[in-house]
Amino acid sequence: MDELELLAHADARGRCYTEANERRRVFPSDEAIAALAAFDEPLPDHGPPAEDTLALLDEVGSPATTASNGPRYFGFVIGAALPAAAAVERLMLAWDQCASTFDNSPVSATLERVAARWVLDVLDLPGDSAVGFGTSATACTLAALVAARRTLLARQGWDFDRDGLLGAPEIRVVVSELAHITVKKALRVLGFGLNRIIHAPVDVQGRVDAARLPRLDDRTILCLQAGEVNTGAFDPFAGIIPLARESGAWVHVDGAFGLWARASSLAHLTQGIELADSWTTDAHKWLNTPYDCAMTICRDAQTLAEAMNSDAVYSSASAYAQKNLTLEFSRRPRGIPVWAALRSLGRDGIAELVERHCAQARRIGDGLARAGFNVLNQVVLNQVLFRCKTDAQTLAVCAAVQASGEAWFGGTLWQERPAMRISVSSWRTRDEDVQALVDLLTALHSGIAKD
Ligand SMILES: *Cc1c(COP(=O)(O)O)cnc(C)c1O
Repeated sequence: MDELELLAHADARGRCYTEANERRRVFPSDEAIAALAAFDEPLPDHGPPAEDTLALLDEVGSPATTASNGPRYFGFVIGAALPAAAAVERLMLAWDQCASTFDNSPVSATLERVAARWVLDVLDLPGDSAVGFGTSATACTLAALVAARRTLLARQGWDFDRDGLLGAPEIRVVVSELAHITVKKALRVLGFGLNRIIHAPVDVQGRVDAARLPRLDDRTILCLQAGEVNTGAFDPFAGIIPLARESGAWVHVDGAFGLWARASSLAHLTQGIELADSWTTDAHKWLNTPYDCAMTICRDAQTLAEAMNSDAVYSSASAYAQKNLTLEFSRRPRGIPVWAALRSLGRDGIAELVERHCAQARRIGDGLARAGFNVLNQVVLNQVLFRCKTDAQTLAVCAAVQASGEAWFGGTLWQERPAMRISVSSWRTRDEDVQALVDLLTALHSGIAKD
């Protein structure tokens, strides 16, 4: 089979998979998982024809996928893939561009520049900010925190790049008590030390309590969040950020999914967020691009460009080339699916996507309350947090949904007790999928959690 035939086969298999999206079990069956043992073969001495590998992947692999690209996956905040974004990725595979610099790939550099401009426009953030398209919110937060620490140290007269951290003035970090684990990971990896992190207390919805905010100064990085993973709540940016910046602190906002509220009629939830120094957001969550796709956005473009600079004698480029704004050197042009998603949705399509998911989440919240569940959050965004009367019932309902194959969402701990969290973030989720979820949970409540 020649290359073109092979690609046609791959595409045909991809089309079949997509066509079956609606009928697929949302979590694979035990049999499909057991069949994965077929992959446990020794490395072949002689490679078989490529079509053989493709067939094995599809026949054994496809049935063992989670249908996170389908309409009834409500776990984490995993968005599906928009057709426009998925389609351009297919063409990008044929291009196989290394999108480090303009000289490596003029088309990639151009499109990522346009995507960056559109992201700042639709998120209503300062237009001359730098946008680095990285692999994940984790990596993008890490890049932002490097820029933050380096800048605060420079203001103290310390050259972090040359002299490192030994003997440097101490930089404090203040983070929400409910900061995402990946923010803590980034801080830990950067050597801040988990025991040295100062936690800002939160209120019952998981928002940083402005009245109990720890002391801030010009040696402090403050990390706030837009969209707490359980409740979807937003920190009170307008009440905190101006004071923080007055003290000389650097303010970073983790807006992995919640930042997209800014592109909709829910923008008021993020009021004041535009005053921060840096922001992280994902495209592979709520914008529904394929993985891996996220952004570091930095108000002072130069600080990010200096922190991430990787110019070499054999590879120099514009200070603002993507390789100088992200952790990666060789990289795929992951801003292109962002460009495609934004262009195909348009301003009103993005707003509609966000607003529809929030309305669907409210409908789920109302339905679950009617069914007798205890809804724990104000459903302000696309997240619904709920539980049953007893912990045993909560765990049983969650396990029953996951085993049903009809829908999937995950469990969590909220205020030290088990709870369930539903997230609506797939463009494919229709109102009938939401109704089916409520019906499933209503039936389970009568069966498992009645009293
Ligand atoms: C998912 C998430 C992250 C981590 O994002 P990745 O892209 O998975 O690294 C960080 N913060 C919040 C609030 C998230 O929801």
